[in-house]
Amino acid sequence: MAKKTSGVPVYTIGLRAKGPADSHLAKITRLAEAIGMKTFPWADKLVAVKTHFGERGNAAFPKPIYVRPLVDLIKAGGGKPFLAETATLYTGSRSNAPDHIETAFRHGFGPEVTGAPVFICDGLTGRDHQMVPVKGKHHREVSVASGIHEADALVVLSHFKGHEVTGFGGAIKNLGMGCCSRAAKLAMHTSIRPSVLEKKCVRCRRCFDWCSVGAIGQKVPDGPVTIDPKKCRGCGECLVSCRVGAIRINWSEDTRGVTEKMVEHAWGVWQPKRKAAFFVNILTDIVPLCDCYGFNDAPLVPDIGFAASTDPVALDAACLDLVDAQASLPGCVLKKPVPPARSKFGQVHPDLDIRAQLTHAEAIGFGTARYERIILD
Ligand code: SF4
Ligand code: SF4
Repeated sequence: MAKKTSGVPVYTIGLRAKGPADSHLAKITRLAEAIGMKTFPWADKLVAVKTHFGERGNAAFPKPIYVRPLVDLIKAGGGKPFLAETATLYTGSRSNAPDHIETAFRHGFGPEVTGAPVFICDGLTGRDHQMVPVKGKHHREVSVASGIHEADALVVLSHFKGHEVTGFGGAIKNLGMGCCSRAAKLAMHTSIRPSVLEKKCVRCRRCFDWCSVGAIGQKVPDGPVTIDPKKCRGCGECLVSCRVGAIRINWSEDTRGVTEKMVEHAWGVWQPKRKAAFFVNILTDIVPLCDCYGFNDAPLVPDIGFAASTDPVALDAACLDLVDAQASLPGCVLKKPVPPARSKFGQVHPDLDIRAQLTHAEAIGFGTARYERIILD
């Protein structure tokens, strides 16, 4: 039985099993069908299925088997799905394509489980991108990973959880941070150029050739390696060139600025595909921090289920309300119990405006936070 409120449709489904056939995979299939994935004309379309493979050591990222129902629906309609990812800005287990693919396979995202190949959409080292126009407060164009921009359709499977900078991570963050190039990620996090940490630099000169504008060099032979801020265009590509981690990001942007910029990048990814984009959020293991860490903390609230929509802003708004409707769990990072109707992520990250993603998205005309919740059996 469906229960209706008002706004853009967001479908939700709980975790209780109606019977032996009511698996979590069957629930994801029902949600996907409800948002139009069964009848969408997939034939011959290249479909980017964006999820998050998790940093090595993290265990809260989406279960690989949750991808399969989405892949199966796309294939049943004649589409060609692939698991789409992009390089991280920081060095770690996902900062270049070989490491990223190995991490994906270690975490169970091989084609034998998901039914689709993994494709790192911004290339070997995070350089492949296309500029997409937007009319934002911070950006007039954003740098989207080529493989995602060139795909014909997009399906985004996101784990909904807290986030230390943007308040929460869901569909908007998976678009804005997850689908863009390294240069875009750097632009979101800082307006200051990278610099070389003299103590760590072994003066191997590897980064010199890596920089396409010749911004990295030595002012005197055998002197310290420096980056010329006048020449540097902030692409961030040198960050992965240094094998000893001597090139550092100068984190300079405030959290509100990062959040607004991320929303504008999400808009740039979504806008060209808005009639061919589908979003599913997973509301289990709702932890305080991002899956980009090599660990995860205890969940803040009980597992809720799954939610889906064609509007990523409405979907995240509904998920935020679902989390806040829960009482906090004992044993989580929150020292005192937090009752229903109070912000859980706001208690963990008291300096952040937890709804900033939603308000900025609405301000620039990207989706709507007004949703109609439809509860599926
Ligand atoms: S950020 Fe890009 S332009 Fe700047 S020094 Fe590094 S590689 Fe060169
Ligand atoms: S690659 Fe790293 S260690 Fe080598 S010169 Fe550049 S900053 Fe120094």
